[in-house]
Amino acid sequence: EGQATAATVVRALHSVADVLRAAEDELGRLDAIAGDGDHGRGMTKGSSAAVEAADAVVAQGVGPSAVLVAAGDAWAAKAGGTSGALWGAALRSFGDLLPDHRPATAEDLAAGAAAALNAVQRLGRAEAGDKTLVDALIPFVEALRSAVADGSRGRDAWQQAAREATRAAERTAELTPRTGRARPLAERSVGTPDPGATSLALALNEIAGVLTG
Ligand code: ADP
Ligand code: MG
Ligand code: MG
Repeated sequence: EGQATAATVVRALHSVADVLRAAEDELGRLDAIAGDGDHGRGMTKGSSAAVEAADAVVAQGVGPSAVLVAAGDAWAAKAGGTSGALWGAALRSFGDLLPDHRPATAEDLAAGAAAALNAVQRLGRAEAGDKTLVDALIPFVEALRSAVADGSRGRDAWQQAAREATRAAERTAELTPRTGRARPLAERSVGTPDPGATSLALALNEIAGVLTG
């Protein structure tokens, strides 16, 4: 139960690409307030490249790990921007933690999410409170880990954790950016949520819908 096969990973990537495409203009507007306005475009480019790569490798019969690693590499290569590099590293690290010859369990998902957070912080050096996607990812990882430890099934655990990520992304509105392109115009961003935290929460909620069991 709570098992994610290669096909589940592919479905998750498709649903992420769909929700990000639908949100592209809104994410661009959010990023234009204090950043350079390209966040929606970058997320659409990255996620559609990830989908293409995933579709190509799953046809070769590989497992969930290889699908996610290929998707992450394609995302980083095609998205451009800070968030593209971070998403690429996150997906690759998540994929590295998944099994390749059996479906992923809820425990695997929690370990993968923790590895993704690690990779994001190793690469971007952002801490909690800097007003980045890390401010949504930390609460997500913590909530997922505790729900899985309490015995929740993969889908329920992910759903609860994704809701935490949404609340956390909304709370970034109060913060002042301390890193990234929004920093020079940081004060303008107060009152508006961080674009990267917002898109991450959207993606995580969408993934909950494709997990089974
Ligand atoms: P760019 O800033 O290069 O134009 P995007 O607009 O696609 O890239 O992404 C901006 C988002 O990236 C921010 O809203 C923030 O969430 C995230 N971000 C920026 N720098 C960092 C960092 N060092 N660590 C984590 N996330 C970051
Ligand atoms: Mg930008
Ligand atoms: Mg940019």
